Amino acid sequence: MADQSIQSAVKDLQQQSAGGTGSAPVNANGEAPKVGQALGWINREIHEKGVMTRAAETAMLYVNLSKIPINPDLLKLVTRDEAVAAGVMPFFRLGQHLRVGVVDPTNASAKAIIDRWTAQKLEVELNLCTADSIEEAVHIYDVQQAVLKQDIVTNIEESRVAAFEKEIQILADLKKRVETVTAEEALNLLEVGAIKTGASDIHYEPEETKARVRFRIDGELHLIFELDKKIFLNIINQLKYKCKMKMNVTTVPQDGRYSFAINARKVDVRVSLIPTQYGESFVCRLLDSGKSFLSFAEMGFQGAYLTKMEKLPELSHGMVLVTGPTGSGKTTTLYGLLGRFNTPEAKVITLEDPIEYHIEGISQSQIDEGHGYNFADGLRTILRQDPDTVMIGEIRDLETATVAAQAALTGHVMLSTLHTNSAVESIPRLVNMGLPEFIVGPALHTIIAQRLVRKLCVCAEKRAVTPEEKIKFETILAGIPAGALAAFMPAAPVVVPTELLSPHGCEVCSKTGYRGRLVITEMVSIDTELQELILAKASGPKLFEVARKKGLITMQEDGVLKVLQGLTTMDEVFQATNIML
Ligand SMILES: [Zn+2]
Repeated sequence: MADQSIQSAVKDLQQQSAGGTGSAPVNANGEAPKVGQALGWINREIHEKGVMTRAAETAMLYVNLSKIPINPDLLKLVTRDEAVAAGVMPFFRLGQHLRVGVVDPTNASAKAIIDRWTAQKLEVELNLCTADSIEEAVHIYDVQQAVLKQDIVTNIEESRVAAFEKEIQILADLKKRVETVTAEEALNLLEVGAIKTGASDIHYEPEETKARVRFRIDGELHLIFELDKKIFLNIINQLKYKCKMKMNVTTVPQDGRYSFAINARKVDVRVSLIPTQYGESFVCRLLDSGKSFLSFAEMGFQGAYLTKMEKLPELSHGMVLVTGPTGSGKTTTLYGLLGRFNTPEAKVITLEDPIEYHIEGISQSQIDEGHGYNFADGLRTILRQDPDTVMIGEIRDLETATVAAQAALTGHVMLSTLHTNSAVESIPRLVNMGLPEFIVGPALHTIIAQRLVRKLCVCAEKRAVTPEEKIKFETILAGIPAGALAAFMPAAPVVVPTELLSPHGCEVCSKTGYRGRLVITEMVSIDTELQELILAKASGPKLFEVARKKGLITMQEDGVLKVLQGLTTMDEVFQATNIML
């Protein structure tokens, strides 16, 4: 690839990282507006936008390092500690020309490092970036060693990533490239495209005369392009080869997996194949280990719930249940918790169906119902291994519930999921399964019910609140007990705004107006009073009423508070909370 095109690729990437030009919720200091003033945590994208504005005002370049592949070789120019302390990170080098992200160019340590590079005859070009950006780049240092140890089927080279990124700025452009390169490269292009758009799955679907490629982004399937069947066959044969499927068999379902790495970030791909009338259809689930270690705040936990989540890893025994329908992000929350229980002193074992993410330091075991290894039996076996924390994929039956509850009562932390609509509903659900009340109460520690909502992209636009929305807001806010509200939005009084953010659409969010997702939650901690009520067979509504007094806000209310903070929309919250199991 010619130098010229690499330069233009990076330039385009930078422009793309800068996002759309829609009005953004930032004030002159580049901070989020103090709607409700409850924000102990900052919306990353708003923060980026602030730095971008500042760069423009001071005639500097801006860079969002999370959008740019950094060659690990560049990390040799600066030590990890230096980069963190001085807020500098080299991110691109072409010959002697070095592009550097910097948080504060006037910082003395930053200046010293830049002087050092200049003395090495490097031509340094500074780009303003956020401290978050630096932190993400530094993360590469931390994962690099771990990744090198694992066997990687493909490592997409940095220069090719840069080239690919240029090609796939607009997803539709992918098609042109995919049709003209080798099958292996086409697959790489699709992998980079999927990671870059934050897709969770790639679907390859043959039809009568053509084949479709779709990405699932933020829970929704998007058609990326349609392909000629001949090209499609080449790609899926490459895919089958990569995940060690039987190449000569085309009439039975097959499962496989493979890995690829992108910027020292390893992505596991779980592939499922089913034969259809028009040929073999594939779904590739991307299990991005770099993604699974979001903080609880980044996942969307806020206020009193965030505090509860952060305290959970101190737990010595008891059951923590995450509830919600399929696609509500239960697994991400569960793994987030699991990662925090995973300390060198603790023994953590999981029982899963299937194993979604591989986590170092944890014994993960896979259910095999066909061979009689079910959740209940597996759990009994696991408990003989003297674990401190056990994660079990799902509580489906009384047998599993009983073993799990006994384990929770005898000094183990049990993490699991349950299919219920609300947090409080989990209590009657366990009782209805046949678990006695005198076990349910003491065994349960915390119940987390959740849904996912899409997060507004930085391109969101302001618009006036409609009278109907005003009424909706007022009704919902009035329903939240004052004490509970204060734990989430301390800057009382919380008022209905006159303006709201609406989705718009830009290149960054592939014109959807949304980017990323957040959980909306409700949490209940079981204390002595609730235990007594459970023992007294109190009804669901009664349990809710008491939990309410102790600070419970519902998922819908949590979502509405996020709308007030400009993070998502009423449509998203209502759509997510209307799913009934
Ligand atoms: Zn956008």
